[in-house]
Formats: sequence, C-alpha cells, structure tokens
Amino acid sequence: MNIILLGPPGAGKGTQAARLQATRGMIQMSTGDMLREARASGSPIGLKVKAVMDAGELVSDAIVTALIGERLDSSGGHGAIFDGFPRTRPQAEALDILLSERGRTLDHVIELVVDEDELVRRITGRFSCARCGAGYHDTFRPTKVAGTCDACGSTEFIRRPDDNEQTVRTRMSEYRAKTQPILPYYQERGLVRQVDGMAGIDEVAAQIDAALDGTSR
Ligand code: ADP
Ligand code: AMP
Repeated sequence: MNIILLGPPGAGKGTQAARLQATRGMIQMSTGDMLREARASGSPIGLKVKAVMDAGELVSDAIVTALIGERLDSSGGHGAIFDGFPRTRPQAEALDILLSERGRTLDHVIELVVDEDELVRRITGRFSCARCGAGYHDTFRPTKVAGTCDACGSTEFIRRPDDNEQTVRTRMSEYRAKTQPILPYYQERGLVRQVDGMAGIDEVAAQIDAALDGTSR
C-alpha cells in the first residue's frame, strides 16, 4: 500500500508516519527529513536548500522529486508513506510517474485537518531526539522520563531552526497557496480521506487506521 499524509506543517504527519512505519512495515518518506539529512551532511544539495528552508519557503520540485525517486528505489518494494510530499501540483504529477514507472499505485491520500492556532502551538513545542529522531512535544507528547528519550535513552534533543512563529506563518501560507490546491487532483480520483487532526494522537491514529482498512464509519 502507498499512501500520502497531506496536511499543513505541524498537523501530525511525521508522528503518524513513524507509527505506521513501526506497525505496518511501511517506509516513511519525509522530504523534510531527507533535506535536513542533506544539510547535516554538508552535501551540495544541503548547501543549496539551506536558505530556502530557513525562510519557510519551498525547495524546488526537481530536488525533492529526485530525492523521492531515490528513496523509492531503495525501499525494496515496501509500501510508502509520503510525508510532506507532494507539496505542489508538479510534485503530485511527478509522483504519479515515479510510481507508475515502478509498477506501483497510490492507494490513499489522508488529509489531516487542523486549525491554524493549534498548528502554531504544536510547532513551537516540538522537539526530537538528537540520536534516533523520535518526535516529542513539550505539552502534548512529553518524554516519559524528563530529559530522556523513550525510544533510545539518549539525553540529547534538538529543535528545528524553522520551528519559530514567524517562519511557521510563511510555511502555512505556502501550504495554503501551493499544497492545498492539489487536493482536487486526488479528490477526482476518489482517493482522499479526511481525518480530524485536532483529536489526540491516539484518536488520530485510530481514524487513519480505519481509513486505511476501509472500516471508516
Ligand atoms: P508534521 O510532521 O505534520 O509537521 P508532527 O508530527 O511533527 O507534524 O507534529 C507536530 C508536533 O505536534 C509534534 O511535537 C508532535 O508531538 C505534536 N503532535 C502530533 N500530533 C498531535 C496531536 N494529534 N495532538 C497533539 N499534538 C500532536
Ligand atoms: P517539513 O519537515 O515537511 O516541515 O519540511 C521542512 C522544509 O523543507 C519545508 O519548509 C520546505 O522548505 C522543505 N520541504 C520539505 N518537503 C518539501 C517538498 N515536498 N517540496 C518543497 N519543499 C519541501
């Protein structure tokens, strides 16, 4: 099964993608994570995208599409969870081609719907483990033992430089202007399932599972 998690920054895509990866043997394909890895490694792509990411704007379609193509080729045929991709109509069209070239199809687009004020609260409280990348929130998903990662026991955490209120507003307007308009592209094909992303993490997970398993009410 290949699915897209679509929603604004902070909607909970990464949280749910990591859970689906752990429970269903699918592979999370987050272009944001791939770009941050490119930056951390100091690669030419990393250097090129730094300023754009820090401003909260979108990286070029060609760069992110190439990253997804490489990841599909190394995914060994496991189902894909696209997280933060596609973000523009050209990316959506490129994804269709990448999948069909590999004999694969898109099964579901899960749209996570969350109010803008809630997104700001989520993003400004977000942090993750510096060693294993597990994601947390100061209020909504704290570590079980203060200062220690639940998943790997590390005591080092990081906050994203673009997770500040001003950049968040730019990222949201990019979402409204360029990403939300791709929904009809998938609605026409009957692929979109709306999920109430305002609910708690476990409830959102249950709604996504019901949508994927065809048991939604
Ligand atoms: P995205 O990948 O869509 O940008 P994340 O999955 O990183 O969003 O979630 C943003 C922040 O909100 C994280 O700190 C995460 O722990 C928290 N979070 C995710 N889902 C929920 C939820 N349903 N309710 C409250 N907080 C959430
Ligand atoms: P994310 O981790 O999904 O919040 O993405 C962080 C940043 O990476 C975004 O604000 C963009 O600058 C860039 N980015 C991630 N995915 C894409 C994409 N599919 N298209 C363009 N830019 C992206």
